[in-house]
Amino acid sequence: MDFKFSKEHEEFREKARNFGKKEFTNDRKVHFDSEEKYPEELRKLAYESGLVTYSDPWKVLIAIEELCAIDPGLGIASTIPYFGAEVLLLFGSDLLKEKYLGRINEGKAIMGLAVTEPSGGSDVAGCRTKAERKGNKYVVNGSKMFISNGNIADFLITLVRTSDADPKRHHGLSVLVIDTSSPGFKATKLTGKLGVRATTTSEIVFENVEVPEENLVGEVGKGFYYIMTFFNISRVFVAAQGVGVAQGAFNRALEIAKSRGEKFSGREDVQFILAEMATKIKAARTLTLEAASYLFNFEPNPTVTSMAKQLAGETAVYVAEKALELAGIEAVNSDLERIFRDAKILEIWEGTSEIEKLVISRNLLKGEAF
Ligand SMILES: Cc1cc2nc3c(=O)[nH]c(=O)nc-3n(C[C@H](O)[C@H](O)[C@H](O)COP(=O)(O)OP(=O)(O)OC[C@H]3O[C@@H](n4cnc5c(N)ncnc54)[C@H](O)[C@@H]3O)c2cc1C
Repeated sequence: MDFKFSKEHEEFREKARNFGKKEFTNDRKVHFDSEEKYPEELRKLAYESGLVTYSDPWKVLIAIEELCAIDPGLGIASTIPYFGAEVLLLFGSDLLKEKYLGRINEGKAIMGLAVTEPSGGSDVAGCRTKAERKGNKYVVNGSKMFISNGNIADFLITLVRTSDADPKRHHGLSVLVIDTSSPGFKATKLTGKLGVRATTTSEIVFENVEVPEENLVGEVGKGFYYIMTFFNISRVFVAAQGVGVAQGAFNRALEIAKSRGEKFSGREDVQFILAEMATKIKAARTLTLEAASYLFNFEPNPTVTSMAKQLAGETAVYVAEKALELAGIEAVNSDLERIFRDAKILEIWEGTSEIEKLVISRNLLKGEAF
């Protein structure tokens, strides 16, 4: 067992950190949060700087952690434009890979993954958006909710119901790649979110949207399996978001504690809080790296992955809250107010903490090792 990153990865970490420090200026942090605007120029810069690269998943993980530590909103916004690409990589036909992933690899397109519906996100098998086969195409009707990049994406990997016939609800689901320029596609940006306001989130409506049959990902009826496989990948990266956000909040808390000098020295409550924050971050990071190690060695461990996602999300929320309390009145106009709002999403997307706990306990009851 080796707990050290290679020299190449440490250098990459430095590069990502320097990028964040240089490009995530205070003006940009405040502007994109308060205006609820997507920072397209930062997406391009991050891509051109080679920070989001599919050649090495460890680098993606490191970039996410470092950028989220500097600013969660801008960090996530710079790394989320290719959300869902693994579904195409793993299950897409050569044609789909060439047509869609080519543009993604060149940084020329933005994509997203549309699973959640207005009736709820946790119950993935409850998907109601219908795709009816008509000749050599599918006709899609329905709606999706809270879709990241929905209004800026060129295409969406979309979970649809292709059959009602099977009593097992999840057997009737399939995945389509839907071009957002298709007639009948409508995305409405949602505003007034609690946090991650630099990312863009939309409600989507499909009204008789025609999708060519070759845009079916993999096989009909396997959509639930493809999406669950994807979640077991993306949860590792969300855990890295959590570790980064927690580390960023901790760094600020530590600075505040040091700057208070005599006022804080000797106060056991402050010392205890700092120790607890650091210990939780260390535990969340170690678990995240273990989950990543399984995944990147092609032996994903869903139990460890859900543990990492749950712990890292909850640690981000805990550390952000404690940092805010420690800062007291100073927090009101500081980064900590925004970080506190941004952290909450990490307990929600890619499976809420409750859903992660259900996955963990179901796997344990099945006798899986952890
Ligand atoms: C900013 C933002 C961006 C997002 N981006 C995307 C995206 O790009 N693509 C996408 O598809 N979705 C996206 N989502 C949706 C997100 O994945 C869902 O919000 C999440 O899965 C939870 O679904 P829900 O909000 O509908 O809550 P529900 O599923 O309605 O759950 C409500 C509450 O009940 C709990 N609960 C539900 N079922 C159970 C159960 N069986 N046992 C115990 N507790 C349960 C949940 O934990 C939660 O606390 C995004 C959400 C947000 C806020």
